Amino acid sequence: MTTQSLEIMKCTHEKQKPNVDELAFGKYFTDHMFIMDYAEDKGWYSPRIIPYQPLTLDPAAMVFHYGQTVFEGLKAYRSKTDDNVRLFRPKDNFTRLNLSSDRLSIPPIDEQQVLDYLKELIRLDKQWIPTEPGTSLYIRPFIISTEPNLSVAPSQSYKFMMILSPVGAYYAEGMAPVGILVEERYTRAAPGGTGMAKTAGNYCAAYKAQEKAVAKQKAQVLWLDGKEKKYIEEVGSMNVFFKINGIVHTPELSGSILDGVTRRSVIELLKSWDVPVEERRISINEIIDASETGALEEVFGTGTAAVLSPVGELLWQEQSIVVNHNETGALAARLYDALTGIQTGAVDDPFGWTT
Ligand code: PMP
Repeated sequence: MTTQSLEIMKCTHEKQKPNVDELAFGKYFTDHMFIMDYAEDKGWYSPRIIPYQPLTLDPAAMVFHYGQTVFEGLKAYRSKTDDNVRLFRPKDNFTRLNLSSDRLSIPPIDEQQVLDYLKELIRLDKQWIPTEPGTSLYIRPFIISTEPNLSVAPSQSYKFMMILSPVGAYYAEGMAPVGILVEERYTRAAPGGTGMAKTAGNYCAAYKAQEKAVAKQKAQVLWLDGKEKKYIEEVGSMNVFFKINGIVHTPELSGSILDGVTRRSVIELLKSWDVPVEERRISINEIIDASETGALEEVFGTGTAAVLSPVGELLWQEQSIVVNHNETGALAARLYDALTGIQTGAVDDPFGWTT
């Protein structure tokens, strides 16, 4: 891969920025975007920052037909008191993008170079980063296959893009536990499938189960493994943790779950606090048993969007299992404060996670 100079074309007029109370998630986009192209004979070329704009694609572009595409999600934070912009473990996201690309037969990007391009893009659109507590700039890097060809084979051309979206506080009224439906019919990922990749098909294939959860007034789905429908995988688009008798358990990276950056950070934080943590296979029956004996102390999900989401109820075979009296547990609260403190720069970052 060759180093190429970044071309910057600034917009001629800036868009109106939304009020912070209108933000929600992924609804507004900043003034600029990053884009570069890939061709078999050139590799990645023509990196440029241009005004945010629609794309023109051939209707036969492969992404529309066979879904050869990958994406990432990370955040930048800015506070009122300190004008620095902080990225949380951004290298990890570009490393994971390349892992997803490898699974989808998409050529790799240069992780360091793309991080440098991202910094340039953020510098340009810095005024879009909200500073109110809990708000941030969500960054969506993604790759699409663009070759106009209906053969079922990897594309020979791609576009890599990064778009930025100011997002509101996930917990406008404080962190509150959510109810989860344990899904026993649909599964998210099969052994040997694409579960460890951030690729579009994994996400739209989850809508059907999510609709069921919403119909039962539950916020998310708890996914069981695709083979035996017995072992716990993830909660919605989050990794999941269970505190049982003082020990924290989380499903091991089996290949069918995502290697979450927040998951990794939670494990490292717990180890630094001498809280025992185990990565292993966990069956749903074990969790039900632990709840019946009173050993199940806390359940929470982790991911970039919410950072941490306590689970107050599991609905399993029409049976409601209430966790920690449907209240946020002490460990979940401590982890949330530690992670968001580091991300926003409010507390020291002993791990060197922020850039
Ligand atoms: N699992 C899935 C399926 C996800 O989409 C995400 C969000 N990226 C996560 C877990 C959490 O990963 P991270 O902590 O890196 O956001």
